[in-house]
Amino acid sequence: GEPDSNLSITIVGASGDLAKKKIFPALFALFYEDCLPENFTVFGYARSKMTDEELRNMISKTLTCRIDKSENCGDKMDQFLTRCFYHSGQYNSEEHFLELDGKLKEKEAGRLSNRLFYLSIPPNIFVDVVRCASLKASSTTGWTRVIVEKPFGRDFESSGQLTRCLKQYLTEDQIFRIDHYLGKELVENLSVLRFSNLVFEPLWSRNYIRNVQLIFSEDFGTEGRGGYFDNYGIIRDIMQNHLLQILALFAMETPVSLDAEDIRNEKVKVLKSMRPLLLEDLVVGQYKGHSRGGKLYLGYTDDPTVPKNSVTPTFAAAALFINNARWDGVPFLMKAGKALHTKRAEIRVQFRHVPGNLYKRNFGTDLDKATNELVLRVQPDEAVYLKINNKVPGLGMRLDRSDLNLLYSARYPKEIPDAYERLLLDAIEGERRLFIRSDELDAAWTLFTPLLKELEEKKIAPELYPYGSRGPVGAHYLAAKHNVRWGDLSGEDS
Ligand code: NAP
Repeated sequence: GEPDSNLSITIVGASGDLAKKKIFPALFALFYEDCLPENFTVFGYARSKMTDEELRNMISKTLTCRIDKSENCGDKMDQFLTRCFYHSGQYNSEEHFLELDGKLKEKEAGRLSNRLFYLSIPPNIFVDVVRCASLKASSTTGWTRVIVEKPFGRDFESSGQLTRCLKQYLTEDQIFRIDHYLGKELVENLSVLRFSNLVFEPLWSRNYIRNVQLIFSEDFGTEGRGGYFDNYGIIRDIMQNHLLQILALFAMETPVSLDAEDIRNEKVKVLKSMRPLLLEDLVVGQYKGHSRGGKLYLGYTDDPTVPKNSVTPTFAAAALFINNARWDGVPFLMKAGKALHTKRAEIRVQFRHVPGNLYKRNFGTDLDKATNELVLRVQPDEAVYLKINNKVPGLGMRLDRSDLNLLYSARYPKEIPDAYERLLLDAIEGERRLFIRSDELDAAWTLFTPLLKELEEKKIAPELYPYGSRGPVGAHYLAAKHNVRWGDLSGEDS
């Protein structure tokens, strides 16, 4: 920022989990990396009663320094904490936001003021807060921006309704809808890999790609926090937003430039070209209790905050298709689930067979095993690797599957910033590339809403799978129907 400006960041819902776990630590990391402007203040806002000192105490417990340079860490934390303040107020009180405005002005000391509000609160109070904040605590000299977290509604109608309400008080360019998957290093790298390496972009189409898989798995369940989840389910929680965003980025045409509007224009085109989703291309599952190694893992409906007869999916697999010239007929398979055997997120690209392969007979009968596969492991242990066929050294002609492997921890020892750091910095700098535009959100809901409605109207029973397993068998049948084998189950991965 300009030397005579002041950045005020207000975290609404500062007493909550996300604020503590992600937002304050990310702000501190930005401060630590000298990415925040010289004059900045951070305000926590929530109903809970707290003094500035108590807020500092609370957040100091979750701040951490990067391992590689921790000498001055303590000093930096103290400096950061002196810039943090707290204001207690109601979410629907213009008067309380006016009080906040007074405190912000005091810290801004007459400098040009830029204000960022982070809504880390349940969605039913988004509009109240936006109304009060925009009417009473907007900047009158600089910009005012608002970051909102999912869920952005639960279907096309409620999402549209929310957007219309927000737009009574905000313009499109003030709204920053976070999809924190877009802030992840490997997701950012997807475009770099494709557009800056000659060896990938020419292959990026139905001519060479057999299928694309977007996989998200968690190795834990709702563990007593199922109340929120039960109203949404895994399709809304992970697929409609995170996985679909990655799909759009993956499949888009080359944008005119790296400008936010150019990129988002291309993503919207992909979403609008998607074939409507059919129930027959979806498998839903729900985890059930399971005991292993003398320990009992509770099922989803054993969670006391979840209704006993809930049919909310905690697992889903879907086959999606893009009806355009580049991707016609290529299955994009998504799989997302809780309480599975592993915790990871990855993008897998399976290439076609080599036509007229000279080495056909050296592979045995299973030619599928010989196809190339490119994997971007988003988390954990970030990596990019390409499965290739290689000659096993020796006098015979035996072929072997090997990986060209770029493991981030080996190549880039510096710790990878958390997604929230990048997203907060982008919001501060007005970079909108990684945030969801209203028409993108509409297109995403247009795709998923009819399917979700049908699922709920027909009360489709999810296939039960044991806690800690690989998920319902139905996911394999779905893949097989489209001639796909899930790559994450091949057992070949390091
Ligand atoms: P949270 O802890 O449940 O809520 C944040 C704060 O909002 C609470 O400390 C509370 O503050 C206030 N609040 C809670 N329930 C309320 C209610 N019914 N009416 C009015 N105020 C209420 O939520 P969170 O986990 O921090 O997440 C914040 C937002 O981010 C949510 O919308 C969530 O859906 C979204 N999100 C969270 C995560 C995550 O990892 N936690 C991930 C993605 C998205 P006071 O009582 O002090 O006012």
